[in-house]
Amino acid sequence: LVKNRRDRHYAFYDEIDYDTIVENKKLENGFEKALADKKFEVWYQPKFNSHTGKIVGSEALIRWRADDGSLISPGRFIPLFEKNGNIIRLDEYVFREVCRQQKEWQEEGIQILPESVNISRFSLYYSNVVEKYERIINYYDVDHKYVQIEITESAIIENTVIVELIQKFHDAGFDILLDDFGSGYSSLASLNQMPFDTIKLDKSLVDYVGNENGEKLLKFIVQLVQSLGMKITAEGVEYKEQLDFLENLNCDDIQGFYFSKPLMLADFSAKLTENN
Ligand code: C2E
Ligand code: MG
Ligand code: MG
Ligand code: MG
Repeated sequence: LVKNRRDRHYAFYDEIDYDTIVENKKLENGFEKALADKKFEVWYQPKFNSHTGKIVGSEALIRWRADDGSLISPGRFIPLFEKNGNIIRLDEYVFREVCRQQKEWQEEGIQILPESVNISRFSLYYSNVVEKYERIINYYDVDHKYVQIEITESAIIENTVIVELIQKFHDAGFDILLDDFGSGYSSLASLNQMPFDTIKLDKSLVDYVGNENGEKLLKFIVQLVQSLGMKITAEGVEYKEQLDFLENLNCDDIQGFYFSKPLMLADFSAKLTENN
C-alpha cells in the first residue's frame, strides 16, 4: 500500500514536469513570431509621491498577449529567455518601446514623467550594451532623465563587470534604480557598490509594517538610504496602513496595488493626461 501511494506521488510530479517542459518549449519557440507580431505589450505601473498622491513616474512591465487573448506574466517567460539569450532582444525591445512612446507623448504635448525599464543582468553581458541603448535613446531624442534603468540587487553582488556597466549607464546620464532591495542577503554591501539614484524597497520589507521590530528596521533603512543621498521607492504597497507608515518615514515614492496596478497603454495614457 505504501509503495503504491509512493508510485502515485511520483507519477503526479512526473506529469507536472512533462506539462511544464512542453509549455516552456512552446514559449521558447513562440518568441520570434510574438516579437514580430508585437505580442509583447508594455504595461505601466504608476509611482506616486507619498505625500501628495500625485503620479511622479512609472515602471514598464512586460506582458505577453497569448493567441487566446489572455496575458502571460513575465515571471513565466523571463527566466526561460534568460536561459536561451532572448532576454537581450526582449529588454532592448521594451527599452525601445518606452523611448518611442515617450517621444510620441511629447509630440502630443503631454508632459511626460520618468519611466523605468527593467534590465536583466544577462542583457548587460552583451557587448556594447551601453552604446546600443545610447543609440536608441538618441534616435528618439528623449532626455535621459525620462528613461531610468532598474537593475535587481542580486545581479550586482560581487560582480565587477556588471558594476562597471551600470556605472557606464549612469555616466551616460541614466538614473539607476536598485530593484528588489532587501530580498537578497548582501543588501548593505550593494548600497556601497555604486551611486544608485533610487533604492526600491522590496515588497517583502514593506510587509514588515505592523510588526514592531520590522518597523524599526524599515525606519533604519529609509534613514540610511536617504543619508547616503539616494531616494527610496517602496514596492508592493497594498494597504493604507503601509502607506501611512511609509509616508510618516518620509519615504519618497510609493508603487503598489493600493494606488494602482500595472495599466495597459491606453489607461496609463489617460492617467498621464489627467495628471498634466
Ligand atoms: P519587478 O521589477 O520587481 O516589478 C514589480 C512586480 O511587482 C510586478 O510584477 C508588479 O506587477 C508587481 N506588483 C506591483 N505592485 C504590487 C503590489 O502591491 N502587490 C503585489 N503582490 N505585486 C505588486 P510583474 O509585472 O509580474 O513582473 C515581475 C518581474 O518580472 C518584475 O519584477 C521584473 O523583475 C520582471 N520583468 C518585468 N518586465 C521586465 C522586462 O521588460 N525586462 C526584464 N528583464 N524583466 C522584467
Ligand atoms: Mg522593477
Ligand atoms: Mg539623469
Ligand atoms: Mg522589484
